[in-house]
Amino acid sequence: AAKDRGRNRTSYFSRDLEAATEQRVRIARELRSALADSQFSLHYQPIIDLRSGVLRKVEALIRWQHPTLGQVSPAEFIPVAEQAGLINEIGDWVFETALTQAAQWRRSLHPEFQITLNVSPAQFRAEDAYLARWLQRLRAEPLPGRALVLEITEGLLLDASASPEQRLELLREAGLQVSIDDFGTGYSSLSYLHRYAIDYVKIDQSFVSGLERDPRALALCKAIIAMSHALGFQVVAEGVETGGQLALLESSGCDFAQGYYFGRPVPAADLPDSLGRIEQRLWSHSAAGAP
Ligand code: C2E
Ligand code: MG
Ligand code: MG
Repeated sequence: AAKDRGRNRTSYFSRDLEAATEQRVRIARELRSALADSQFSLHYQPIIDLRSGVLRKVEALIRWQHPTLGQVSPAEFIPVAEQAGLINEIGDWVFETALTQAAQWRRSLHPEFQITLNVSPAQFRAEDAYLARWLQRLRAEPLPGRALVLEITEGLLLDASASPEQRLELLREAGLQVSIDDFGTGYSSLSYLHRYAIDYVKIDQSFVSGLERDPRALALCKAIIAMSHALGFQVVAEGVETGGQLALLESSGCDFAQGYYFGRPVPAADLPDSLGRIEQRLWSHSAAGAP
């Protein structure tokens, strides 16, 4: 009987696996037409400067609305796009869209407004011409490189085939800023970070979510903040969902925060309202806290 159960379990697993594989194949097929059919959009989530309350940064997050599959999460389709060799094309669309949006918000919201975008390892590893084309595109605009921040993951820094040092230097020369996303989930060695031209370290949300109940999560955040500051980087906490988490991050010297506590990612048209709401809350928060 135990053997039967074991066999049943195996078949459940393989059925799940088959279903998952089918879904990936389906997604890869549908992705090919998604660009042409304008099924992608970017949503934007505010990043708050904790010292000043200034709201001048947003992260661009891709959304895919498929006619029959509905909303497909980037956590699901980005890995498929990477494997299917479609990520560079999607990445170009993200870059182009963010570039246009940054120019617009620099005119309408603030001259120093910045948009942060996610760059997959595969894009960063692509031949030199890929990033070079972005920089060329940027030079054709009356927009400084500073308008964009690229988010890469820490694993890339250890990947010699991605020539991280050289490529980061290229970006820096063009004025773009660079952020290390999901910090703490990969190789997590701050000791090699000092070699690279980076500007921000983003503490992964898994540490932020543990802040109020796990003293080790707090110790970890404090250590990341202290070491980042010692190396000259600013720190962004992502996935901030509660006032308690925010208070702990503020008292730990964290520079920026982003999360549902402030606002969810929203379509471009809704961003000014979202920023207005956050501003109002920050204002009443500081007014209430004043002596
Ligand atoms: P990420 O870059 O680490 O983005 C943060 C994710 O956390 C986003 O999920 C965001 O919606 C979500 N988030 C923000 N605040 C909170 C919060 O308070 N609580 C919780 N639980 N979640 C929060 P999303 O938009 O589903 O994106 C997932 C991942 O997909 C991103 O993680 C990024 O790695 C990737 N991704 C998104 N857009 C792009 C893109 O344009 N290009 C590439 N290459 N990857 C992208
Ligand atoms: Mg990110
Ligand atoms: Mg992240």
